[in-house]
Amino acid sequence: MKSNYLRRVLTLTLLLSCLACQMAIAKPSASKDKKKPAESWRGVHLFVASDEAVDDLSESLTNLTAVGINTIILEVGYNFEFKSHPELRSGRNPVTRAHARKLAAVARKNGVRLIPELDCLGHQSWKKSDHPLLRVYPQFMEPIGTNTDTNGAHLHSWCPQQKKVYPIIFSLMDELMEAFDADAFHVGMDEVFCIASDKCPRCKGADPAKLYAKAVNDLHKHIVGKRKKEMLMWGDRLLDSKALGYSKWEASRNGTHGAIDLIPKDIVVCDWHYEKSTNYPSVPLLLEKGFRVWPSGWQPLEATKAFSAFSLAEKNPRLVGYLVTAWSRANVRTAATWPPLVEVMKDWKK
Ligand SMILES: [Zn+2]
Repeated sequence: MKSNYLRRVLTLTLLLSCLACQMAIAKPSASKDKKKPAESWRGVHLFVASDEAVDDLSESLTNLTAVGINTIILEVGYNFEFKSHPELRSGRNPVTRAHARKLAAVARKNGVRLIPELDCLGHQSWKKSDHPLLRVYPQFMEPIGTNTDTNGAHLHSWCPQQKKVYPIIFSLMDELMEAFDADAFHVGMDEVFCIASDKCPRCKGADPAKLYAKAVNDLHKHIVGKRKKEMLMWGDRLLDSKALGYSKWEASRNGTHGAIDLIPKDIVVCDWHYEKSTNYPSVPLLLEKGFRVWPSGWQPLEATKAFSAFSLAEKNPRLVGYLVTAWSRANVRTAATWPPLVEVMKDWKK
């Protein structure tokens, strides 16, 4: 009995010492990681809709790195030579795999991270024309309801409960991530005005926050769960417009904001605001909720500088850097000399 007891004590002691040993081994590497200061994500969002744009960006890359850029959100959308769904290619000259790979090689050489973007759920149309998904598969569209905000009615959405959408979209994402050698994907998800339509047989009467969160979670399962990549999204639908004092574009007035508590916290939220202010309450809110936050400004210069200064003052390690959205004001050629980008990046290079 006694020897059995001693053997058990000895075994337990050995097990504990092994465990302590492993912890001791693990600790230095963890503390080593902490010592290494994370570099700010100094980003620009650009439209890249053709091989010409891809090549122009390859040539402009060193100009962008010279002003501090180390991350580029490439909004390619449907403008790619998709092989899985050629019926969804947009434009006469969509981006080809060969040119995308060439850009990826130049980016890697220059230490620039490329993150492709395809708008999901909302933004499936512009003005009077649908983008390819709803043009080819009109049955996927969330119908405009009597409860749809008419100001956003030209921005069609797909129905988040239309299960056939997702295998298609996942194939497109996989092709884009592979072509640009990307370790992350931006799913858009901004300005979703048409959701929980009272004319949709699947969504009528449903909670918009739960429907929006379902779409985010479905995308997350594929990008993060299955493909082991990082996921980024615009933040406006997670914010309560009235509570935070933002417009109905940069925050939600259509009931989606409750989704902020229903989605994974490892998503990087691109929190965009274009008005000059002394306070941007969404930044501390999203940080408190546990997200990594990438504040995103545009123009005028004074507004993007104000948002940048506010964000810098947060001094939170989960605030990853600053993203400048160029939209129609700058392109792959001109972004490197565009004042809102050049001026703001000076602060984030320090
Ligand atoms: Zn629906």
